[in-house]
Amino acid sequence: MIDTIAFPVTRTSQSGISKVDFDNLKFGAAFADHMFVVDYKNGAWGQGEIIPYGPWSFEPSMASLHYGQAIFEGLKAYKTEEGNAQIFRPSANFERFNQSALRMSMPAIPEEIFMGGLAQLIQLDKQWVPAKAGSSLYIRPFMVSTDEFLGVRIAETYRFAIICSPVGQYYNEPLRVKVEKTFSRVADGGSGNAKAAGNYAAAMYPTKLAQDQGFHQILWTDAATHSFIEESGTMNVMFLIDDTLVTPSIGSTILKGVTRDSVLTLARDRGLKVEERKVSVDEIIQALKEGRLKEAFGAGTAATIAPIALIHCDGTDYQLPNEGRPFATSILKELNNIRYGSAPDRFGWMLKL
Ligand SMILES: *Cc1c(COP(=O)(O)O)cnc(C)c1O
Repeated sequence: MIDTIAFPVTRTSQSGISKVDFDNLKFGAAFADHMFVVDYKNGAWGQGEIIPYGPWSFEPSMASLHYGQAIFEGLKAYKTEEGNAQIFRPSANFERFNQSALRMSMPAIPEEIFMGGLAQLIQLDKQWVPAKAGSSLYIRPFMVSTDEFLGVRIAETYRFAIICSPVGQYYNEPLRVKVEKTFSRVADGGSGNAKAAGNYAAAMYPTKLAQDQGFHQILWTDAATHSFIEESGTMNVMFLIDDTLVTPSIGSTILKGVTRDSVLTLARDRGLKVEERKVSVDEIIQALKEGRLKEAFGAGTAATIAPIALIHCDGTDYQLPNEGRPFATSILKELNNIRYGSAPDRFGWMLKL
């Protein structure tokens, strides 16, 4: 339990929960009854409150719509066998949110508002945390600038909110990814290590081209040389080469994933050799050709662990071994056991409500 300020609550007059098909959850399509909202003006955060989920009204001149001062986070709450809700590593998301805010010249959100609002909201809507295996409540904290002003400048007013969506599995098959050598997601010194809305807008066109060619996702490479692997969609990427877990090191172009850190922690705890370093495309293709690339997978909150079945590079499809993917499978199981409360929370990751 954490100490929370109790925010005022206006309850919905009619819950929408009976309209949701919890056996067929589409990612991010249904929303829990309530949301947390707080506004920033005159240099200070106002009174946070929990209100029914619903539309906002704003003027067409709202700054975030034009200049993109908009950031977000993504984390999940899980239901334990006893029926309790618990949130996976929210402090890590809180810290990253304020790092994103700093990069986008937005005000930091105080911990008691972010964490307190989050805990109270999930407690209130805990019947929205799905109980079915593999499903969870996706939590989306975000902040947008709200100035009604068209000059390009750092905005003076902002809204922070938290909305929640019950979700099932993100990908239902192992991924086919394309090594991207034409477009870039971000460049060194840019905003790639912030969860800033514009980064995702710019990734959509190249991702669509890849999807039109039959791939699920792009494997981004560095903007300067297109020879080092960065990440994939909204996931960090990991490779099991021989008996070593290899992943690109975090820099200004790669998001510091909480799932990435959790997988590396579990891998190191098992005594597995882990390398965080530059990973070249050539090295991966070479390892594939020599049969030394045992597994590859994406790691992110939405998809958790998404195994990669095929890597496309320079016109050639390279199939990965399909022998049960023992590492990805067992690490996912270990992570899930902690998140759903069926294994001890050895690393202090779960916020129990
Ligand atoms: C959110 C995100 C990730 C994964 O981070 P998690 O904290 O594990 O969810 C990786 N890359 C990008 C670009 C992301 O937006």
